[in-house]
Amino acid sequence: MGDDGRARALSILAEVEGALADIRCQGSADCCRFAVTGREPWLTVVEWRLVVAELRRQGRRLPPPRESDDGRCPFLTDQARCQVYAARPLGCRSHFCERATPPAPHASAFRLAARALAELSAVEASSNDDAGSRPITSWLAAEQVGPSRARRAQRARRRDGR
Ligand code: SF4
Repeated sequence: MGDDGRARALSILAEVEGALADIRCQGSADCCRFAVTGREPWLTVVEWRLVVAELRRQGRRLPPPRESDDGRCPFLTDQARCQVYAARPLGCRSHFCERATPPAPHASAFRLAARALAELSAVEASSNDDAGSRPITSWLAAEQVGPSRARRAQRARRRDGR
């Protein structure tokens, strides 16, 4: 993904965040502990590339996959901060949490998020990267085994309809 695609994707994410600006979060970081919520953010390849680029900008490497009882995100620091906050994916900006105030995002925010996802997919299709969304831990695991091997495996899954 080139600089243009990256800038476009970041501006889409910022737009969603602006629309959700009046939602208050208690900052417990529970949503970053996937075994607590039973959910994990799914990222398009564009969002994953943003995460990788943000780490690179900070001079950091990708963290190893993590084993923990609460299923914490590999990008959650010991101080309960997001290491890639500036480039965190759409799912991490959406406040789909019962404890957020107001408790549920308004319809306009849902519509905006859906449009943003469609736009991200368009950015994705115009790049040479593989398309498709995956859980954040799956992206990380695929990166550890090597992007080309992961891409071959993904193509094989698509071909076989898996
Ligand atoms: S990427 Fe950041 S905000 Fe999203 S789940 Fe991981 S630590 Fe939390």
